[in-house]
Amino acid sequence: MSGSTIIPWVVGNWKMNPMQANAKQLVQEFKQLLAQHDIPAAQCHLAVAPVTIALTTVQTALADAARPVHVVAQDVSRIAGTGAYTGEVSAELLKDSAIDYVLIGHSERREIFADDVAAVQAKIKNALTAGLTVIYCVGESLEQREQGIADQVVLQQICDVATVISAEQWQQQMIIAYEPIWAIGTGKTASPQDAQAMHAKIREGLTQITPAGQQIAILYGGSVKPENAAELAACPDINGALVGGASLNAESFYQIARAFADNK
Ligand code: PEP
Repeated sequence: MSGSTIIPWVVGNWKMNPMQANAKQLVQEFKQLLAQHDIPAAQCHLAVAPVTIALTTVQTALADAARPVHVVAQDVSRIAGTGAYTGEVSAELLKDSAIDYVLIGHSERREIFADDVAAVQAKIKNALTAGLTVIYCVGESLEQREQGIADQVVLQQICDVATVISAEQWQQQMIIAYEPIWAIGTGKTASPQDAQAMHAKIREGLTQITPAGQQIAILYGGSVKPENAAELAACPDINGALVGGASLNAESFYQIARAFADNK
């Protein structure tokens, strides 16, 4: 038990997976597990982030789950509102479709799709203005960790966006996900000690930026699986998990959620 008063979040990032039929099956299996052995909402928030075209169908399929399972968009446009922006989905359009959460700054978006600081700032600003809750992803590369600048890189990523977030928004609409890039999809997880150390640094940084710093959930992401979830959950400043690969298996995702609900 960590003694933290923050209710943990376990969020599945499905990335560019799965096909419709498999998504349907995944949701059904997860709902069945929750119906058999509930994880009380007061012990753990649950969410999944499907591809954009599946947001509404997954939300509908989850509506009769034994407990709330929130639906998260994986990204949002840097452009607000509506207009002639082919291929884009704005924060207002997400909100209009009853999607209340969005991932911003995932390392895959930063690295593959060139989301720079200006893009990430614009996305966060739009999302918060539209009333979405943002799961803001930060994390260092292996090279940066080996150079001993991991803390500096991660804290800078938080400072980068602090100018576009009000005190009220920090308190009500922000979640941080620390995801060391070298641990994403690699099977390598940061040790609970290293992850806790970084989370404590993030917590310290947040408390310098906002009075809400002690209440903001800081999730860990990077090859979280049922085998390592309990150890990570036991760390005082790890308030949940952002789960990629293991969230595509209902039983694994359920076991991770269970570990966070039981160890917080
Ligand atoms: C992610 O991409 O957010 C992630 C944490 O992936 P994985 O769990 O597969 O490392």
